[in-house]
Amino acid sequence: MAAAGPRAVSGSNAFEEASLGLVAALRSVASEDGTYRELRRACASFEALAVPEDLRAEVRAIALQLTAAKTLDARERVADDARARIEPWLRPEFSESLLARPLSVLSGIGPKRAQTFSDRGLHTIEDILFYLPTRYDDRRALAQICDLEVGRRATFIGRINSVDFKSRRIKGRGRRLLEAVINDETGSVNLKWFRALGSLEKEIVRGGVFLVTGDVKRYRFAMEIVHPEMERIEASEVEGAPAADEATHRSVQPSYPLLEGVPPRTVRRLIRSVLLSYSDLVAGQLPAPLVEARKLPAVGPALRLVHAPDLHAELPDYEEFRSPAHERLLLEELYLLQLGLALRRSARARSPGIALGISGERVRAAPHSLPFTLTSAQQRVWDEIGRDLARPHPMNRLLQGDVGSGKTAVALLAAVAVAANGRQTALMAPTELLAEQHARSLAALMAASPRVLGLRLGLLTASVSRAQASEVIEALAAGAIDLVVGTHALIQEKVAYADLALAIIDEQHRFGVLQRAALAGAASGVESPHVLVMTATPIPRTLALTGYGDLELSVIDELPPGRTASETILMQSGDGARVMERIRDATSRGEQVYVVYPLVEESEKIDLRSAVESSEQIARAFPELRVDLVHGRLDAESRERIMASFRRGEIDILVATTVIEVGVDIPNASLMIVEHAERFGLAQLHQLRGRVGRGAVAGTCLLVSRGGGKEAKARLAAMLRTNDGFEIADADLEIRGPGEFLGTRQSGEWVDLRLADLVRDAAMVEVARDAAIATIERDGGLVNSPRLRRAVEAHWSERLALLEVG
Ligand code: ADP
Ligand code: MG
Repeated sequence: MAAAGPRAVSGSNAFEEASLGLVAALRSVASEDGTYRELRRACASFEALAVPEDLRAEVRAIALQLTAAKTLDARERVADDARARIEPWLRPEFSESLLARPLSVLSGIGPKRAQTFSDRGLHTIEDILFYLPTRYDDRRALAQICDLEVGRRATFIGRINSVDFKSRRIKGRGRRLLEAVINDETGSVNLKWFRALGSLEKEIVRGGVFLVTGDVKRYRFAMEIVHPEMERIEASEVEGAPAADEATHRSVQPSYPLLEGVPPRTVRRLIRSVLLSYSDLVAGQLPAPLVEARKLPAVGPALRLVHAPDLHAELPDYEEFRSPAHERLLLEELYLLQLGLALRRSARARSPGIALGISGERVRAAPHSLPFTLTSAQQRVWDEIGRDLARPHPMNRLLQGDVGSGKTAVALLAAVAVAANGRQTALMAPTELLAEQHARSLAALMAASPRVLGLRLGLLTASVSRAQASEVIEALAAGAIDLVVGTHALIQEKVAYADLALAIIDEQHRFGVLQRAALAGAASGVESPHVLVMTATPIPRTLALTGYGDLELSVIDELPPGRTASETILMQSGDGARVMERIRDATSRGEQVYVVYPLVEESEKIDLRSAVESSEQIARAFPELRVDLVHGRLDAESRERIMASFRRGEIDILVATTVIEVGVDIPNASLMIVEHAERFGLAQLHQLRGRVGRGAVAGTCLLVSRGGGKEAKARLAAMLRTNDGFEIADADLEIRGPGEFLGTRQSGEWVDLRLADLVRDAAMVEVARDAAIATIERDGGLVNSPRLRRAVEAHWSERLALLEVG
C-alpha cells in the first residue's frame, strides 16, 4: 500500500488512504513546478483499488486534465478543482453511504432479485461483503479421468459426451434413470442418476463442461459415479475467479450457505463483483498495535481473502474461521461489541447512584451474626458487594455460585446494609415456590440474630391473596418493608417503592433482560438502584464477558464445609426394580426422596397424570411409607402445606413436577429421581441434583431416561461426567449455542453477531475485550475517535440498549 505520503487516519479504509494521497499529490502539483511523479504514484494506487469504477474513472479524468493543462495557472485551477471533488471522499460518511447502497445498484440485479436477497437478510452491499463462505471447494488438486481410482472420491473437469434417459423398473416401481458419459483428454467415466435433477437436468447436455465430484465405483467393467455433484463451468467463471490458475482451472472455490431461490453460481458471481468494486471501502477499527502484533491483514484484503483464498491457503483453517483474514474480521466485529459493552459499563459506573454507609456497627456486625461462618469465597464476594454499595454510582454485579454455595446469606448481608441506611431491597425470583422459599430461608437466617439481621420482610407473588398483596404494596409505598421477596409480581405497575436502593435478581437466566431492567427501573428517584444478579448456573467466561459484559463479576467458587458430591446414575425404562430398591435403601435409613416429573406445557395433562399415577404406584409399593404429590396446579397454600410437612420429615417420598426445581433446601433428602430425564434441560438437571446431598448425608441422583435424541443424550452424558457447575455450563453452551443459553430469545437476538461465534471464537472474545478496555482507558468516551464511536453506535447501540439496567 501507499507507504509514503500522508499518514492514514486510524479507522480509515484503503480508499480514503489513497484519496488522501491524491489530495496531497494534487497540492504539490499545484504549488511546485515539480514533476508529476507523486501524482502518478497516487493515481496508480488509486487505480488498483477495489472501489466502484466511476470513482476510478473520475481520477483518470483528473490525471488527463492535468497533463493537458499547459500553464502553471491552468494546472493550479485544475488541481484546485480536483481537490474540491476528492475531499468529500475523505469523509467516512462517503464510504459508508456507498456500502449502504441497495443491491439493485449492481448490474445484473433487478428489483426482483434484490428483493429475494433482501428477504434473506442481505439488503446492502456491505451485507454481501460479510456474507462469508462456510466451505471451500479445493480445485487445486483436480484429477484427470485416467487417474480415477475405484473406491476414492475425486473431483475433475470434463465435457459431457453423451446423455441417455431410460425408464426402468426398479424394485417394482417405474423409475427414471439418467446416464451420461463424461470425458477429458485422458479417458471417460459414466455418471448415473436415479432421481430427478431439477434445473440441473436441462444443463446436462452433450458438450457441457462440468466440475464433477463424487465417489468412484466399479460397475461391470467400467467406472461410474452415482449421483455426482455437478457444477457447470463457464469459461468466464473460471478465468474470473480471483484465485484461479487459468491454465489448469485450479482454484479454490467458495461455497456459501444456500440462499433459497438463488442459484449458488449467481451468489458467487454477485459476491465476486461486489468484492472487486467495494471491498476497499470497508474501514478497519482495530488499534494499530493489535493489528501489528497479530500480523493481521488490512480489512479490504482480508475480505477478498476469505471469499477467495490464495492458492497456498490452508483450507481447514479457513473453514474454521481460523485464517489470519478471518481473525481480522472477527476481531473487528468483537472489538466493536466489546467497546459497546465497555462504554455502557463506564457510563453506568459514572451515572448517579446511592452511596450507602457500610461502616456502621450494624453492617459490620452482620456477617458475624449469621448462624455459620462465611466461607472465604462468601467473605470475598461480600467485600466486593459492600464496596460497590458504598460508591455513589449504581452497582451492576453478577454473582455466580453453584447450587448450595450460599448466595442467600450474601444477599441478606446486602439487604441488611441497605436497611441500615433506611432504604429498601427487592429480591425477584423466577418461581413462586422459590420466592416463598427465599422468604423462608431469609427469615430463618434473620432469626439467628434478630437485632442485627432482622428486617421487615414482605412476600409478593401471584398467589398471595389479594388482601395480603395490597397490604404488602401499601407497606412498600409507605417504606414499612425493608426487604420484599417475590416473582415478577414485583414489577407490576401498581407496585411503587418508597425508597428502593437494591434490586436482587435470582436465577437470572430465567428472566429476560427486559425484566431485569424493569425491576431496576421501579426505583422512584433519579439515582439508579444497585443491581445484583445471582445465578446458580455458572456462565462460561466468554459468555459472561459478552452476554453479561455490562456487569462486574463475582464468583463464589467454594461450597460450605461438609458437602459431598452427589452420585449420579443413569437408568432406563426397564430399570423400575432397581429404582424401587434405591428408594427402599434411602427410606430405610430414614432419608427422604424426591421423584420429579417434567411438566411441559403442551402435554401438561398427560404429565400430570403420570405424576399422579406414579405417586399412587409408589404408595402401593411402599404401603408403610408416606407419599405425597406436589404440582404446579395446586394453589400456593396446599403446595406450601405439603412442602412444610416434607420439610418436617412427615413425608418420605415427594412426587413432584418441576416446581421444586430451584432452590428447595431440605437437608434430609438424599435421593433424587428424575423421571423422563431426557426432557429436562441441562441447567435444570444440575439444579435438581443440587436438591440432594445438602446436609451431612451424601446424595444420589437417578436419571431415568425414556428415550430422547442426540442432544438429550449429550445432556445426560454431561451429567454423568461432572458435578462441576462450570463444566455443566460449558457443556450446556456447546449443546445449545449461545443464543438460547442466554435466554434472551424473547427479547430478540441482540447478540446478533455477523461473523463471530461466542463458543468457537472464545479466545478472540478475550483479545477483543482486552483491546476494548485499553481503548476506553485511553479515551473514555471515545471523544478522540469519533469514527470509532460512530461505528460502535451503528452496530451496537440499539441492541445494547436492551441490556440497559436503570
Ligand atoms: P444457594 O442459594 O447459593 O444455592 P443457599 O444460600 O441456599 O445456597 O445455601 C445453601 C445452604 O447452605 C443453606 O442451608 C445455607 O444455610 C447453608 N450455608 C450457606 N453458607 C454457609 C456457610 N458459610 N457455612 C455453612 N452453611 C452455609
Ligand atoms: Mg439459592
